[in-house]
Amino acid sequence: MSISRFNAVEKASNRKAVLAFIPDRKVSDFFGEDVFNRKAMKKYLSKETFRLLTDAVDRGTPIDREIANHVAAGMRMWALEKGVTHYTHWFQPLTDGTAEKHDAFVEHDGSGGLIEEFSGKLLAQQEPDASSFPNGGLRNTFEARGYSAWDPSSPAFIVDDTLCIPTIFIAYTGEALDYKTPLIRSNEALNKAAKEVCNLFAMNVNKVTTYLGWEQEYFLVDEDLYAARPDLSLTERTLLGHESAKNQQLDDHYFGSIPSRVQEFMKDLEIVCYKLGIPVKTRHNEVAPNQFELAPIYEECNLANDHNQLLMSLMKRVAKKHNFRVLLHEKPFQGINGSGKHCNWSMATDTGINLFSPGKDREDNLLFITFIVNTLMAVYQYNALLKASIASASNAYRLGANEAPPAIISSFLGTQISDVLDRFENSSIEDAIEMDSQKRLYLGFGQIPEILLDNTDRNRTSPFAFTGNRFEFRALGSSANCGAALLALNSAVAYQLQQFGKDVSLLCEKGKSKQEAIYEILKTYIKTSKPIRFDGNGYSEEWKQEAARRGLDCENSVPLQYDAYLHPDSIRMFEATHVLKEKELYARNEVKWEIYIKKIQIEARVLGDLSMNHITPVVLRYQSILLDNITKLKDTFTIEDYEALSAEPKRLVRKIGHHLCAVTRMVDEMIESRKKANRIPDLRERAIAYHDTVAPYLDKIREHIDDLELIVDNQIWPLPKYRELLFIR
Ligand code: ADP
Ligand code: MG
Repeated sequence: MSISRFNAVEKASNRKAVLAFIPDRKVSDFFGEDVFNRKAMKKYLSKETFRLLTDAVDRGTPIDREIANHVAAGMRMWALEKGVTHYTHWFQPLTDGTAEKHDAFVEHDGSGGLIEEFSGKLLAQQEPDASSFPNGGLRNTFEARGYSAWDPSSPAFIVDDTLCIPTIFIAYTGEALDYKTPLIRSNEALNKAAKEVCNLFAMNVNKVTTYLGWEQEYFLVDEDLYAARPDLSLTERTLLGHESAKNQQLDDHYFGSIPSRVQEFMKDLEIVCYKLGIPVKTRHNEVAPNQFELAPIYEECNLANDHNQLLMSLMKRVAKKHNFRVLLHEKPFQGINGSGKHCNWSMATDTGINLFSPGKDREDNLLFITFIVNTLMAVYQYNALLKASIASASNAYRLGANEAPPAIISSFLGTQISDVLDRFENSSIEDAIEMDSQKRLYLGFGQIPEILLDNTDRNRTSPFAFTGNRFEFRALGSSANCGAALLALNSAVAYQLQQFGKDVSLLCEKGKSKQEAIYEILKTYIKTSKPIRFDGNGYSEEWKQEAARRGLDCENSVPLQYDAYLHPDSIRMFEATHVLKEKELYARNEVKWEIYIKKIQIEARVLGDLSMNHITPVVLRYQSILLDNITKLKDTFTIEDYEALSAEPKRLVRKIGHHLCAVTRMVDEMIESRKKANRIPDLRERAIAYHDTVAPYLDKIREHIDDLELIVDNQIWPLPKYRELLFIR
């Protein structure tokens, strides 16, 4: 049973901060203590096993069953000493969040008792019997069951009494059923392609690593208020609620101090994160009331994404201790900012060069320009795909509002880098690229001005902005698995770098020098990719029109945005980089359409219930009070006085009647639209029907109810109002 509004408001406003548990040790003393990291490995593994395992992590060498057995034994000993009793394969299915199935370490000992057991086989592979995870039809046959397989590149960790082993989740036939598998494949594709381009410049690079630094935004609400709002509890967003008179107009939350209840929550969360090896660094208030952000120091992409997935589940657990609920939804409240998850993305070589950092040495600068230009080409050619990669039912509520990038992908470079590209495009080869006596190539115009990391030349409205030594992909939603977007970005850039290599050798075969070939191709790329460069205001109406003129993808419908995954260019790109096969792309789209349908379906059902069973009865009650008042006025006053005095209550009765009629009529229509959509067998078509014919009712019905909220007696309004939900003291 949900609790009543006033009860919830009273409880929430009387809450005292729950103090965080702070160990009296330095962070560096307990950082990573719940992780089977290199320090633990050294202690619990033999020298040889340690070497083989770290080789596997660093160089991707295979791990055989024998080594897995040794690792499992060491891991078990480490975990048992920490009081762990269970283990689980921890994976990232195509739904939100992570999944796990806990098994105890115990096995029969052969003489009627139990012993603690954990073999290499159990470490390496598990069948989670997960037939109910979405798979887009990939596991319809009996043979094609899914299983999880150990990812040694992300260390195991302990949560509570359970050893969690990061795993990929795939079908027996090899198709990916998760985000991690293709993300790892895309990192590998980028490593290979980027390495080759580096070596074209004689850089002697053995490995290129992709880095990710995410910034997680979220809202907190008191748990009693959350419980009193069925829409929050079931959909993570408010489907109703008139704006509060005061919300974020004064920007006072952004600059304000963090409320003490929240501060204690953050401290607890940070300590849990540190123990689990998540290097969190920044915490602050965000623009909207009750909105906050947490960001770590960047890490290798796959590990960073695991850490983000882990963080999202830790947040929920820790919040409960502090009587909060965390909202990771992109748009929990109308009229104030939503939450995103900026992904700071870069690549660096094993020789220590950040490929997006204008170098100190002149030779690095040509490499820098090459990577910038190739990235722009990839983002240009796959702008529709990148948008599909961040598209979801919930993120659609945030994009395009006056706070988040529009549903159009473009890239902001800043004036310095833009100038360099313009200069390159208009220079002769002698001016653009210089060669020294050892035939090394340099960017002709010497140093690129040192770009300040905290440079002010920032464009907050750009979905894909260059920020000094990295790109910041800002269109991601706060609830997303970063893997979805990064695997598309990595693959597109990898494919583009492959093309660059091919284009250069083609020209060389035709008799051009390497210098000429690189010059000509970069120049062509700079010209071709120009439509993706946009330094203006991404929130403006003019940009939408301009973007359409430039041929950028402007599709607003999420189900149609997903089509970009199945475009022949995308299929070719994903196949060529060995990240996803055509069959996998089709299957994954089925899952995406299905999730879209379900999200809208649940919202429509909840709104129908709220409208008819929560709001309508209360509104009718208030209307009766008014009618009663009118009758009594008539009984009491002369006809002239009555006419004057009853004018206002009569007007209110009519107004209420108008809104109520609209609500009930539209709830009926919405149910009809849903029924009709549910009869469509094809998932894509059904998702389109949900988008076109069901979703629009959510806003329309809400508008009437939000108007009613302003009319009906505050004392009987059943749901906590925005002003009550939004201000933690
Ligand atoms: P903002 O001003 O955008 O809020 P912050 O400095 O708070 O930026 O956070 C930026 C994020 O970018 C952090 O997670 C940081 O570790 C990360 N970052 C910094 N340099 C790089 C890089 N070269 N590659 C990837 N991520 C980076
Ligand atoms: Mg940022």
